[in-house]
Amino acid sequence: MPNSKGAVRDDSRKTVSYFYDAAIGNFYYGIHHPMKPHRIRLTHSLILAYGLYRQMNVYRPRTASSLEMTRFHAHDYISFLKRVQADNEKFIGKVPSRNFNVGYSAEDCPAFEGLYKFCQLSTGGSISGALQLNTKMADIAINWAGGLHHAKKAEASGFCYVNDIVLAILELLKHHQRVLYVDIDVHHGDGVEEAFFTTDRVMTVSFHKYNGTFFPGTGHMNDIGVDRGKYYSVNVPLHDGIDDASYALIFEPVMEKVVQFYDPQAIVLQCGADSLAGDRLGCFNLSTVGHGKCVAYMKRFNRPLLLLGGGGYTIRNVARCWTNETAVALDAEISDSLPYSDYFEYYSPDYELHVRGSNQTNQNSPEYLEGVKHRVFENLRHLPFCPSVQFHPAPDDSYDMIDEYGIAIDTADPDIRIPKPVKDRIRESLVDILDREEGGALSCNRNRDVAPPICRNGLPVSSVRQAGGSKNVAPHLTLANGQPVAASKDPYAFD
Ligand SMILES: [Zn+2]
Repeated sequence: MPNSKGAVRDDSRKTVSYFYDAAIGNFYYGIHHPMKPHRIRLTHSLILAYGLYRQMNVYRPRTASSLEMTRFHAHDYISFLKRVQADNEKFIGKVPSRNFNVGYSAEDCPAFEGLYKFCQLSTGGSISGALQLNTKMADIAINWAGGLHHAKKAEASGFCYVNDIVLAILELLKHHQRVLYVDIDVHHGDGVEEAFFTTDRVMTVSFHKYNGTFFPGTGHMNDIGVDRGKYYSVNVPLHDGIDDASYALIFEPVMEKVVQFYDPQAIVLQCGADSLAGDRLGCFNLSTVGHGKCVAYMKRFNRPLLLLGGGGYTIRNVARCWTNETAVALDAEISDSLPYSDYFEYYSPDYELHVRGSNQTNQNSPEYLEGVKHRVFENLRHLPFCPSVQFHPAPDDSYDMIDEYGIAIDTADPDIRIPKPVKDRIRESLVDILDREEGGALSCNRNRDVAPPICRNGLPVSSVRQAGGSKNVAPHLTLANGQPVAASKDPYAFD
């Protein structure tokens, strides 16, 4: 039905489920580390302030169990993550026989206090979202604490430890023949691509900065998948400074063609906010409007849609971005003038919702983008029109049917806030955070063209087959009924 602006819009309002645990913002990677889980709390605070919680179902995700995580990850890796949390004091400073790129000498992926619990909450939200889509409890599920796309089967990478996306997709595959994964983070979605590189049941499409050295070093246009997965991995390499208009010029026709050819039954969109202008680690020039248009574009296909977070290191802009995208999911019109919220001072001096593009030079010429699009279309032509993959009867869902969808909660109640002692400590460190984000000396070049290139030597790890991604081997599990740590009791607050 045409709306007042004459544009075609969705045929009906969607049922949206939103997953959030108040403890998530307390986890802390370390003072100099750019990843700040506090950004999820900032986002939630804005969502509350705009009243968006009234239009969606709000859940506290239950914690994912180690058994669930090992549907993709190696057992020894997951038990190591558990040990890091349990024996953190003893572990730090020692060189273990194998550290899985966590902790000692792995500055990107530190062994911070509560690490395993953090992974459980992040992953629990994404799997819960997938379960709700599977059972049609929701048309759109949102977990801004998820989207940690770099984690590998047996290795942490790029601030990511457990790949909630792969695990959520494995859940979706129980009820859907074909799942489309789309990634608009500035970094290549390497962990997800690698997991599904050999299967045609998941198509991965990543738009990212690529020059061979920018982290994680993968994502060349010629990486298209292998074996049954050949042509089911799509990589769209981009250069610095891409703006809204250029991004739409490549994103929209590529996604239109992908959906036309692949006909996915469910879509997972990783909404990494480090592709925004002014990100502490990124180098693109998207506004929140341009970024949000990607969400709106995928939503209009009317498939079950899982929206996940991801990167994003200028945290006040991350909150702006994901709040706007929550509104996009809800078809809600919200004001550019920010309502008062718990962290109002973060948004000084303009106190506006939207992040604008800057005058950064766009190094993506129309000719370059046209060439990339042409190559992608050529590859898509090899696909059978809507592949006829074998599909087995849906196996059991992972959990007992009582708490699997997350715990319906009252976190949407604006009267329930972060306890004052915790909040005070956050405010103490606010100045530090903002100083660093303004591009000062600590503006961390860690991910800016300095990471050593990672070559894919021949075939990638075909972890999905080992993980049972297309084999429907999930056992019927019993839910681990661990309650999330209440913020007031959480020991992981700021140092
Ligand atoms: Zn990123």
